[in-house]
Amino acid sequence: MIEVDHLGEVTRVKMGREYQGRVLYWTAAYLVDGLLIDTGCPHTSEELTRFLEGWHLDLAVNTHHHEDHVGANHLLQQRFQIPIMASMESAPLIAQPAELRPYQELVWGCPVPTKVGILLHQVETESHRFEVVETPGHCADHVSLVEVTKGWCFTGDLFISREPKAMRPEEEVYDIARSMTKLIELPIGKLILFTGLGNVVEDGRAALESCIDHIHSLSREAKALEGQGLSPDAMVNRLFGRESVLAELTDGHISSENVVRALLRYKDK
Ligand SMILES: [Zn+2]
Repeated sequence: MIEVDHLGEVTRVKMGREYQGRVLYWTAAYLVDGLLIDTGCPHTSEELTRFLEGWHLDLAVNTHHHEDHVGANHLLQQRFQIPIMASMESAPLIAQPAELRPYQELVWGCPVPTKVGILLHQVETESHRFEVVETPGHCADHVSLVEVTKGWCFTGDLFISREPKAMRPEEEVYDIARSMTKLIELPIGKLILFTGLGNVVEDGRAALESCIDHIHSLSREAKALEGQGLSPDAMVNRLFGRESVLAELTDGHISSENVVRALLRYKDK
């Protein structure tokens, strides 16, 4: 199902597969001035495309290659013949078949590989200019789009919450913190986050700062516990109380233990 609402000039389209009467996991795309940022998951690609038929659409951008951000690429190219752009690192990943786990196929679906153009430093629409900011961490190819005069910051999956508790194995918490710092330090006034989960965070700078603080505090605690000889598994209980429920649902792919392992991966940070 999809849910649409209009937040000033930005239209938010939240999407998710309905299963036994509830949406399994929300993901979001944003439409502003003919630019679509992310294209949702494959399971909702038809619904998104139908919705977009009534709207001005010139271009789409993928913030990263994950299946819940590129899912309607193929259909959008077929129906509207619009260009779709992604970072130089994302493009080859989007062009190849995704290797997904069963839960990913159930929740989001498997995207059709698509050929996308390479993003440069800026994206221009009729009335706005978006800076493309490299923000690796959630994955290495991740970018965010920032409209400097409005303070809009489309962050894909860089910011999930102030206190991240579960991650995929390839996520790098210190890169996430560095990417967030890069956004905080942009020479702009306010920073409003539009996240890949569909949350709009008005005081984005404070939210990013508190997430960075949390990562650093977890890092200190994890290293102290490592010094006491605790295993990553035992550290999960000390740092988070218990393993995330997502670990069981995703067969360990999204887990608190992955956060601990990322915190311990680099000894010098
Ligand atoms: Zn992602």
